[in-house]
Amino acid sequence: MKSSLLRALIIGAPASGKGTISNRIVKSFDVQHLSSGDLLRHHILNKTELGQAANKYITEGLLVPDKLIINLVIDELKKLKTSNWLLDGFPRTRNQALELSLAFPVNVVINLIVPYDVIIHRVQQRWIHARSGRIYNTEFSPPKIMGKDDVTGEDLIQRPDDQPEAVKRRLNEYAEIIHPVLEFYKHFNVVHDFHGKTSDEIWPKVQDFLSSIIEPKVKCSSSN
Ligand code: ATP
Ligand code: MG
Repeated sequence: MKSSLLRALIIGAPASGKGTISNRIVKSFDVQHLSSGDLLRHHILNKTELGQAANKYITEGLLVPDKLIINLVIDELKKLKTSNWLLDGFPRTRNQALELSLAFPVNVVINLIVPYDVIIHRVQQRWIHARSGRIYNTEFSPPKIMGKDDVTGEDLIQRPDDQPEAVKRRLNEYAEIIHPVLEFYKHFNVVHDFHGKTSDEIWPKVQDFLSSIIEPKVKCSSSN
């Protein structure tokens, strides 16, 4: 496929490392990253009509209706006609997938698969200082004293959303939403699964795969 443009989606459960992998893709390849969540937040910030309409749904934790989101994303993609792109957060419904395929057929779906117990464990390591919003991770950036904020010495808490039961619920919701979207793309034989426990484990596989279909951004620095 080296001659045609990359029209890719990245999908993965909450806390599956979608953000990390997306950032690395953008660093290594000439690919534009477009996130539907970022697009919506941009509209909300700028108080556009669309932003105000979408905000009602987002604050309630609901999906924004298809009629609001589809045109928004497709209009943005029209601006990227001559670029490789990586779409994140869209499509989230079969109808969105269908409308997207009519405008721009997707040729690669990067499906990140991290075991649910690993995600639940990862999220559980997160502790926050409620008043300041400081975030700690018991493995990667632990507080000096376990359970206490470095600056104030106050207790750290875990977000209710990060409790195992809540995470399980979010993972199940995700699986339910993404199922019809994945089925849609499986039909076109474009889904590529990347398994791993961490982004460091998954990234080389994604990098190898993308290198086989598009040119890396910079040639190896040792070659000049
Ligand atoms: P992540 O953890 O991957 O960032 P998120 O749940 O925070 O996921 P975003 O992609 O940042 O979700 O989007 C934020 C909100 O915007 C969603 O909760 C949803 O209400 C709305 N949204 C984003 N993309 C879509 C979409 N494709 N269809 C409908 N609503 C969407
Ligand atoms: Mg988000």
